[in-house]
Amino acid sequence: MMLITEVRIKLVEENNERLQAFCSVTFDNAFAVRDLKIIEGTKGSFVAMPSRKLTDRCTGCGCKNHLRSRYCNQCGHKLDENRAMRDADGRAKLHADVATRSTRTAARWSRPPC
Ligand SMILES: [Zn+2]
Repeated sequence: MMLITEVRIKLVEENNERLQAFCSVTFDNAFAVRDLKIIEGTKGSFVAMPSRKLTDRCTGCGCKNHLRSRYCNQCGHKLDENRAMRDADGRAKLHADVATRSTRTAARWSRPPC
């Protein structure tokens, strides 16, 4: 069993959206999950797992670019616009969930944990 050994909260000052705070959680003094978002939902606050933008490398210079980029940020090389992986509905997959669906459900709390 893993224990949460540390929780850090950074409140969002400009509360113009439902985002209330950023949170980082450490398990067993070893595993840290950073940039969790605490979001105000209709049934109370919940924690959203971080997501990362998918990138790949330019075929011309090897520089990293976001998958949505049409031209390389570094050398201007034209990039294949359809290189992003697409899901079953044909939508381009531009973000990768860091956590799986099951851990996201496990991290859902009915009220702010801190
Ligand atoms: Zn390039």
